[in-house]
Amino acid sequence: MISGVTQFSMDARVSLRSLNPYISCFICKGYLIDATAITECLHTFCKSCIVKHLDTKLGNTCPKCDVVIHRSNPLLGIRLDRKMQDIVFKLVPELQQNEANREKVFCKLRGIPYDKNQGSTEKDKHMDDNKYEGKTVSAISEDRVSIQLETNTKDMEPLTKKYICCSSRTTVNHIKKLIAKKLYHDLEKYCSVDILCNDEILGKDHTLKFIYVTRWRCKEPPLMLYYQPRVDVLNFSQNV
Ligand SMILES: [Zn+2]
Ligand SMILES: [Zn+2]
Repeated sequence: MISGVTQFSMDARVSLRSLNPYISCFICKGYLIDATAITECLHTFCKSCIVKHLDTKLGNTCPKCDVVIHRSNPLLGIRLDRKMQDIVFKLVPELQQNEANREKVFCKLRGIPYDKNQGSTEKDKHMDDNKYEGKTVSAISEDRVSIQLETNTKDMEPLTKKYICCSSRTTVNHIKKLIAKKLYHDLEKYCSVDILCNDEILGKDHTLKFIYVTRWRCKEPPLMLYYQPRVDVLNFSQNV
């Protein structure tokens, strides 16, 4: 026989545990930190987990239900979910303190002033895709991105002007055309150029903003891009 009180507290404990799947991240299995939802399906992940996921082969689909996050730029298909984060912090109070401590250390190591009155959820209130990893992206100011263009092969000439400040909406195709124009004096040859970031060939429609956040991971500017002859025309261009 179970008394009414025992029965009640057991129910309360069970229901809290049953909430865990809703306040945990499907990717890292921990409690949600900087809860970020995919607007298409509303599945929620830690911000850092979902941003990392965007960098993978299946990066444009939800890790949980495979829905396409966004047709051209997945960063436009995710949003911070502050209500969800508030719920997580209410249910797991020590989590917020741990995060605040981590953030303090993060700021200290990077010499960024830490405002203790601004918790991470508050700080991210105005988060947009310029402000990943909890800091303002310094290379992207007023929608401009500083890039450095280098070649990693002797098959192509170095550019005389390597440092360029472009709109964050500039695409890889724009960069290819710029290189074709400078090196070959022929815009139409842009198809024979590949652009790389961190040794990865970039898709022609990726914007600099997207590359800066997902490939360059918001590191110190300038964003380093490399150009090389397109792989399947390499033999052709060597014979020229
Ligand atoms: Zn996570
Ligand atoms: Zn989903």
